[in-house]
Amino acid sequence: MIDETLTMIPGPTPVHPRILEALARPTTSHVAPSFVETFSACLDNIKKVFETTSAQLFAVAGGGTLAMEMALVNLIAPGEKILIISQGYFGDRFEELSRAFDIDFEILKSEWGHAVTPEELESHLRDYSYAAVTITHVDTSTGTCAPAEEYCRILEGRQELVILDGVCATGGMREPFDNWGLDVLLTAPQKALGVPPGMAIIAFSQKAMDKRKSLASIPAYYADIMRWLPIMENPGRYYSTPCVNEIVALHEATEIILEEGLDTRFSRHAQIAKAIRAALTAVGMSTFTADNCLADTLSVVNYPEGIVDAEFRSEMARLGVVVAGGLGPVAGKAFRLGHMGNIGVPEVSKTIDAIEKSLATLGKKIEKGCGLAAAAPHLHW
Ligand code: PMP
Repeated sequence: MIDETLTMIPGPTPVHPRILEALARPTTSHVAPSFVETFSACLDNIKKVFETTSAQLFAVAGGGTLAMEMALVNLIAPGEKILIISQGYFGDRFEELSRAFDIDFEILKSEWGHAVTPEELESHLRDYSYAAVTITHVDTSTGTCAPAEEYCRILEGRQELVILDGVCATGGMREPFDNWGLDVLLTAPQKALGVPPGMAIIAFSQKAMDKRKSLASIPAYYADIMRWLPIMENPGRYYSTPCVNEIVALHEATEIILEEGLDTRFSRHAQIAKAIRAALTAVGMSTFTADNCLADTLSVVNYPEGIVDAEFRSEMARLGVVVAGGLGPVAGKAFRLGHMGNIGVPEVSKTIDAIEKSLATLGKKIEKGCGLAAAAPHLHW
């Protein structure tokens, strides 16, 4: 029996039947000509999603955290100092990674639910310089979207390598690698790309590749991009067996993205986010994240007085919609609702309906259908 449960957490996201079908195709040899061709086409497609013609792409079995690790170990020598801009749990992860690899760091942190402002970054950089700056585009813990483009403008022409963690944004929000002057864009497939988890996807600029080549050795073997470079240039070569089925599925996902078109896809994400927020307001709920840094890919939603986290989420699950609990300071006080990837009106409607019904079951007075009515005007793209 197919499980009809809708997974509306901030990753993994619902997987489109075409991607599931691609994943289920017979596993081939990793050097079979058909697979090599698909792998190459997949890398080319990802470059289109990243809006880059010049970056060197790497896609390896792993996860978003491996991609974060690859960014640091390949570019920052032990003892060099980086600036971490953090608006939550995943930004802070760069701090832990830095410690693990003896990288010196400074951290510019915002209050949870807010982002470091461009002015704060600009004024900080007047007095200091670093080997690199890390930016978390959307922090999945706080639902906060950083003003990434503005940060990039401030960093333009400076020595720092610009590392963008796009895990909770790529494929749902614009991240034009070349235009923003990024040196690294790292991501994972299980969020707005809409593929089951299992890979680290990461692009390096020429400046970043030069930096890697200037380091004689790095504290990594599997994560060393120089060992992967020949495979990315010609996927028929071997270094470590690629995740054949996952790559075929990722290829299918990138085909879906390009068929939809980047503009339409980003506009769909923006409209769905608006629809969901209009519905939340209509049912008497609010977002934890400040209005000026809301993300198009997820919402962190405060519970109204009297609603108990565990009860609400189990009622939602009973209605066939899984949402995630809050992390850190918002645990128990808010839930996290993913709204990214290959979703449309049916998924959004089912989610809003389940929110309305769950609140009503738990004693809130809700006018039947008010959430859906508030969302409807936004559900076009
Ligand atoms: N960065 C961000 C912004 C994330 O949301 C996540 C995962 N939730 C990661 C990094 C780590 O990715 P993974 O869980 O695939 O290791």
